[in-house]
Amino acid sequence: MNYEAVIGLEVHAHMLTYTKIFCGCSTTFGSEPNTQTCPVCIGMPGVLPVLNRKALEYAIKTGLATDCTISLFSRFARKNYFYPDLPKGYQISQYELPICEHGHIEIVVDGAAKKIGITRIHMEEDAGKNIHESASGGGSYSFVDLNRAGVPLMEIVSEPDIRSPREAAEYMKKLRTILRYLGVCDGNMEQGSLRCDANVSVRPVGQKELGTRAEVKNINSFRFVEKALEYEIKRQIKVVKEGGRVIQETRLWDSGRGVTESMRGKEEAHDYRYFPDPDLVPLVVEQKWIDEIRSSLPELPDTKRERFVSEYGLPKSDADLLVAEKSAAEWFEEAVRLGGQSKTVSNWMMGDLMRLLNEGTISFEECPLKPAHLIDVLKLMDKGTISGKIAKTVFEEMYKTGKDAEAIVREKGLIQISDSGEIERAVVDVITKHLQEVERFKAGDEKLIGFFVGQVMKLTKGKANPQMVNELLKNKLSS
Ligand SMILES: [Zn+2]
Repeated sequence: MNYEAVIGLEVHAHMLTYTKIFCGCSTTFGSEPNTQTCPVCIGMPGVLPVLNRKALEYAIKTGLATDCTISLFSRFARKNYFYPDLPKGYQISQYELPICEHGHIEIVVDGAAKKIGITRIHMEEDAGKNIHESASGGGSYSFVDLNRAGVPLMEIVSEPDIRSPREAAEYMKKLRTILRYLGVCDGNMEQGSLRCDANVSVRPVGQKELGTRAEVKNINSFRFVEKALEYEIKRQIKVVKEGGRVIQETRLWDSGRGVTESMRGKEEAHDYRYFPDPDLVPLVVEQKWIDEIRSSLPELPDTKRERFVSEYGLPKSDADLLVAEKSAAEWFEEAVRLGGQSKTVSNWMMGDLMRLLNEGTISFEECPLKPAHLIDVLKLMDKGTISGKIAKTVFEEMYKTGKDAEAIVREKGLIQISDSGEIERAVVDVITKHLQEVERFKAGDEKLIGFFVGQVMKLTKGKANPQMVNELLKNKLSS
């Protein structure tokens, strides 16, 4: 029997507000523990939370960008549980009336587009952080850092529409791209700005009802989304095939060992005793404000991709890669505006530039090269000052040193040899050294032309004008 996986993702995204969701404390990451706290976010009795308008705006923005319906009336609820990083004993969240519902995101896997439904997006506060350390004399102790307590989060819950680990990873990537386009979340998974829990179950192909699901927590990179799900799906199929039953539980992904492990039985919603938070009035949003937010939305990745295909004549695969990061898309358009041919610019970006950025694990936003740098190199190539091969060297040198293209060409003596006398000497030199190949060429093995060109280029250190090399070689070889 064949089995299929049914996956739903719950993504927690830190919103990029300067202050927390219910107080004025800073949200800056990495400060000294407990320096960004106040009576509200450490849960002192008698304080009153006040909603951060920016957080609400960001949640609405995200809802609009994912085709959700925005609720004109929503409410905050208390989710009750005890943990040392939650001094109030409850987390302020949204429950039966979230701010956004019924949206979707489109993903593309192996060329095929698929819509993944968004059940809801709700706002909530983050909890603090427990830090566990072992004492030098043995034993261990724990600290609580409440800087993170009250940082605004969006929880974006998908429908169980995802069928494979690949689709899950594509969904995460697309969601991250959208959040970054909107400027509502930095998408930094290492710092925990974007976290993901996955609900996974398996069922025989063709069966309608869902299998029992397990929740996998602690997934903090795209690679781990795929790995954790692959492991968990295999595990569940094995359990079912051996006649067992999957238990409804929470499992933790251990990236070091590559396994998911049972953490605790899964709580039901009623275990949290949700009830409307009496400290916060119901949230009423005016349609006029929603319309204003809608008109302020930037061009989103799907629209941009379509435009790159129609306006610049790029292949879909190029457009896909270029729009994945807003800064890369802007870099591309700037280079074209400065006179670059669109496909040439795209090739340089996806080839040499992305390679250099990847080697240094540098994001596109921190790219040291400006579009004008590339245009300078392309112009030198067009003028015939440098060859295509040398252009790559110059580009890399510019990337590493920040010097301009002409200076590099001058300093390193990379100017293309277009002096026919000098090229002819090299051509004759190569021909006299490879008489056997000349015989074969003359006997009809025309592919050898590539070999001769290569030898001349080697002799001239890649600086000979390739067109002239070709012409001179053909000339000499046929005489
Ligand atoms: Zn505070």
